[in-house]
Amino acid sequence: NHEKHILVIIRDISDIKKAEKQLIEAKQKAEESDQLKSSFLANMSHEIRTPMNAIIGFSSLLEEEDIDQDEKSGFINRIKNNGQNLLNLINDIIDISKIEANQIRFISEPINIKEFLSNLYESFEIEAKRKNISLKYNCIESNVMNSLESDTNRLNQVMVNFLSNALKFTPKNGVVEFGSKHDPQKKRVTFYVKDSGIGIPKAEQEFVFDRFRQAHTMTHTDYGGTGLGLSISKGLIENLHGEIWMKSKEGKGSEFYFSLPY
Ligand code: ADP
Repeated sequence: NHEKHILVIIRDISDIKKAEKQLIEAKQKAEESDQLKSSFLANMSHEIRTPMNAIIGFSSLLEEEDIDQDEKSGFINRIKNNGQNLLNLINDIIDISKIEANQIRFISEPINIKEFLSNLYESFEIEAKRKNISLKYNCIESNVMNSLESDTNRLNQVMVNFLSNALKFTPKNGVVEFGSKHDPQKKRVTFYVKDSGIGIPKAEQEFVFDRFRQAHTMTHTDYGGTGLGLSISKGLIENLHGEIWMKSKEGKGSEFYFSLPY
C-alpha cells in the first residue's frame, strides 16, 4: 500500500571463510611439497651421478696396463662401494613409492629380541670401531622377550636407519647406545638409538620424518644421504601399528624411538 519497508538479510559466511582458509593452506602445502620435490630431484641427480661416475671412471682405470695389484684392488673396492650406494638409493626410492601406493606386504612372526639386537650390534661393530665410537646395547627383560610379533626385516630396516644416522652424525670418540625396553601397563615394546652426536636444531625437529628433508643445511654435502630414511621408517612403523618419535639437543645428541604393541 505504498508503505516503505526495510528488508535485512543476514548471512553467516563462516563456512565460506573457513573454506577459503583451507584452500590457502592447501595451496601453501602444495607449493612447499613441489619445492621439496624439486630440491629432491636436484639432490637425486647428484646422488645418482656421483656413484655412476665413480663406477664408470674406475672401471676404465682398470683397463690401463701399468697399474699394480694394490691400485687394482683399490679401484675394485671403490666400484663395489659406489655400486652399493647406488643400490641403497634405488631401494629407498622403491620403498618410498611402495609406501605411497600402499603396496608393502608385512608379515607377522615371533621376534627374538635378543638375537635381533645382537645381530644389529655385529653389523655396526666394525663401523663404530673405525670411528672410535663406543657402541653399546641393552636387551629387554626376558619375560616379554618372545611376546613380540612383527615383521623382523622391516624392524631391522628401521633400526639400521637409526643406527647408520647415529654413527654418521656422531663425531669420533662419541657414544652410541641402542636397545629395547618394555612398558607392562601399555603392553608395548620400545626400541631406541641414542647418540652423543651433533644433534638437530629445534626448528628442524618436527620435519625430520618428512620426505626429502635434511635437518642440517650442510648435511647433503658433508654427510651424503637423501633425506628419505626417516620418512621410510615412519611409513613402515605406522603400517605396523607402531609409533615413532625423536628427541634431540643441538650439539648434545639425539634419541630416536619406535614402539610396538606386544
Ligand atoms: P639422510 O640420513 O639420508 O639424510 P634421514 O631421513 O635418515 O635422511 O634423516 C633426515 C635428516 O635428519 C638427516 O639428514 C639429518 O639432518 C637428521 N638426522 C637424522 N638422524 C640424526 C642423528 N642421529 N643426529 C643428527 N641428525 C640426524
